[in-house]
Amino acid sequence: MFTIRNVTAPTKSNLLKSVCSRSMASKTPVGFIGLGNMGNPMAKNLMKHGYPLIIYDVFPDACKEFQDAGEQVVSSPADVAEKADRIITMLPTSINAIEAYSGANGILKKVKKGSLLIDSSTIDPAVSKELAKEVEKMGAVFMDAPVSGGVGAARSGNLTFMVGGVEDEFAAAQELLGCMGSNVVYCGAVGTGQAAKICNNMLLAISMIGTAEAMNLGIRLGLDPKLLAKILNMSSGRCWSSDTYNPVPGVMDGVPSANNYQGGFGATLMAKDLGLAQDSATSTKSPILLGSQAHQIYRMMCAKGYSKKDFSSVFQFLREEETF
Ligand code: NAD
Repeated sequence: MFTIRNVTAPTKSNLLKSVCSRSMASKTPVGFIGLGNMGNPMAKNLMKHGYPLIIYDVFPDACKEFQDAGEQVVSSPADVAEKADRIITMLPTSINAIEAYSGANGILKKVKKGSLLIDSSTIDPAVSKELAKEVEKMGAVFMDAPVSGGVGAARSGNLTFMVGGVEDEFAAAQELLGCMGSNVVYCGAVGTGQAAKICNNMLLAISMIGTAEAMNLGIRLGLDPKLLAKILNMSSGRCWSSDTYNPVPGVMDGVPSANNYQGGFGATLMAKDLGLAQDSATSTKSPILLGSQAHQIYRMMCAKGYSKKDFSSVFQFLREEETF
């Protein structure tokens, strides 16, 4: 069972715990590694809350606007660890996270004792557990804290963080995560944040494909897409994919479908998350019939030129697949 804690109302015991483990509310520099679609707005929200940043990204252009804003850009994750004792990583895949933590110039090369390392990437829970063990050997603390909410929520500071790790460290993590999200949820031991995230995204993929199928069928039956979306959204078919992130161009403003599926959450990342769900289902012997199907659909989309488009482009994919 998850424990949900509102970030605006930390309990007294949480505050005490964090004071014991790490100085709370201090505006010492925070390391941030991975300034992509999500990391960029997340890091900016930390800046808005007054935290100086130590920045690194393998893609130097991603650091430029932070450098221009006066933040310190360094040349490796190890250098971030040398200068900051709280670090957030926001990287695409398990391989990138392993590189950033355990690589030749990784965080672990120079991590200080007592540091708090929070990984907000969506990666394999087994990798999170391995990284946590390596971090612990260095006398530091690792927590997995993947996010839900997408780029819009990252910009507005309304992400949901699903946090796994030692409970005594939760309040210290919450201090930073609360600057970037409106819900910070403690899920249990390390890896459980990833578990929650993987389940959410598998359901999201299935509901997005379902919404795209229903919209496509309705349009081919002669319905106006806006009218059909309105009806779905006042009926039992309503879901986040239909009412907040509709995949059909022209139905909503301010979503990737209104902008040729640019930005947002890439089909490649969705295929990656479904692969993580598939691996987890295999290892726990859980049937995920629709999740597996969704995985194959997103893999096929990536192979057919959709890899850089937002995952809601499954609607366009279905429309173009006349052979189905
Ligand atoms: P992104 O590809 O836009 O950004 C990732 C950044 O990490 C890039 O700037 C890249 O250069 C950098 N990077 C890669 N390897 C690195 C390394 N070894 N060291 C330093 N920097 C490195 O990805 P994103 O959309 O920001 O997603 C990041 C994570 O968040 C992913 O795991 C994704 O699944 C998850 N996520 C994304 C969304 C979304 O809507 N985009 C929503 C929820 C969760």
